[in-house]
Amino acid sequence: MRVFRAAHLGFCFGVRDALKVVAQVPNPAEVTIRGELVHNPLVLHQLDDRGFHREPETQRDALPATRQVMVTAHGISDRERHRLLAAGKELIDTTCPLVTRVHRAAQQLAQEGRHVIVIGRPGHVEVQGIVEDLPHCTVLAGPHPIPDLPSRFLGVVCQSTTPPRLAAEVVAALRARFPEADLQVVDTICQPTRDRQQAVLDLLPQIDALVVVGGKNSNNTRELARLAQERGVRTLHIEHLAELDPRWFQGVETCGLTAGTSTLDSTVADVEAALRTLVPPPTAEPSISPTPATRSPEECPSLGAA
Ligand code: SF4
Repeated sequence: MRVFRAAHLGFCFGVRDALKVVAQVPNPAEVTIRGELVHNPLVLHQLDDRGFHREPETQRDALPATRQVMVTAHGISDRERHRLLAAGKELIDTTCPLVTRVHRAAQQLAQEGRHVIVIGRPGHVEVQGIVEDLPHCTVLAGPHPIPDLPSRFLGVVCQSTTPPRLAAEVVAALRARFPEADLQVVDTICQPTRDRQQAVLDLLPQIDALVVVGGKNSNNTRELARLAQERGVRTLHIEHLAELDPRWFQGVETCGLTAGTSTLDSTVADVEAALRTLVPPPTAEPSISPTPATRSPEECPSLGAA
């Protein structure tokens, strides 16, 4: 089987920088990480082994017990930042600058008096941080349905890992629904997300199947899988090498490989090495059904994230 590696895949600079900061923390037992530093179970286990305290992304109301609090690359609202500082917490801030850019763009639109629309996954930690600082806003996960809005003076930003195609569809739907609206769109999709999505699109014409490596709750990873699936390419989303089943590759002659922005280089390398030596069963053998691209509880009834 021939294996084609995407031109852009795996760790983005935001995740790399966050992990560098984490690696330099001298006393992990004195630090609480608010939410998932990265949506990667292997990394999270490593953090647990080092003794970090971790709080679920959904339980941010209570104050962390430790004095030091780590803010993840997904960021937090200014309101939450002030609350933590007022409580005497010391912040170790790994917010990605491209997430900060989304916050500032949304706040600027709100200051102009616009009703802000955030294209992203409702409840996602990055989206939560953005909307908490806005007086009013609407979060749209997709172009359908577009709800009525309290104003026709509108501003649009995107969760940083939004697929460009999806953002364009939502903006088009807004323009169609409110043709009279004054709509200002600020493109806040991060370049690493764009690069990884485009690299998958570039691969598709030359592959029979695509393997996507990354956390099942990683939004950008799931979007890579979705991109290929929507174009009819057999797609396998796995978190690690052990999930590779040679039977899935029956009849596959050319396979693409990509990975989300929170996937360890070593995990990608392990999967790539296995793919390059994998011998798919001949097509005459009984096949198994292609594995669904994503199988997390959220995805299969409904996010994933960054
Ligand atoms: S995916 Fe984009 S916004 Fe998120 S950490 Fe990486 S570079 Fe930053």
